[in-house]
Amino acid sequence: MWWTAEEEKNQLRQQDCLFCNIVHGDMPSTEIYSDDQCMAFNDINPVANVHVLIVPRDHVTYLTGATEQHEQLLGHLMRVGARVARQTGISEGGYRLAMNQGVDAGQIVDHLHIHVLGGGLLDKLGTPLGPS
Ligand code: 5GP
Ligand code: ZN
Repeated sequence: MWWTAEEEKNQLRQQDCLFCNIVHGDMPSTEIYSDDQCMAFNDINPVANVHVLIVPRDHVTYLTGATEQHEQLLGHLMRVGARVARQTGISEGGYRLAMNQGVDAGQIVDHLHIHVLGGGLLDKLGTPLGPS
């Protein structure tokens, strides 16, 4: 079976996935950084002065489902986090890289992503709100 380059690209894309649509340019976003593995753009509803999302170009739903083959990508996303922090001027003051996994953590977009948060003092991490 033969696929065109465009069709092959779409194998790694999940239809109706918000972040797949953004990285494929079918939904608008404010791009901060881009390379062949990932894209970073401003969060539409920022919870810090700087709030950027780093999203792999290929669809990965959950960290829980990541395998050995994702190790390079996950490391790359962290390094891009440090780069985005430098680029947005929050590196020196300090910043947080966070990934929400599943319902209790508040994951609402089921396409793995890292939040880059900074630009001022951040709240305490992981304060429990109650049972699920
Ligand atoms: P999660 O809670 O899944 O870890 O984070 C998803 C993030 O995506 C949220 O912070 C939310 O504000 C952001 N978000 C949701 N819809 C959009 C959108 O259409 N564009 C952008 N740029 N961010 C979005
Ligand atoms: Zn996706």
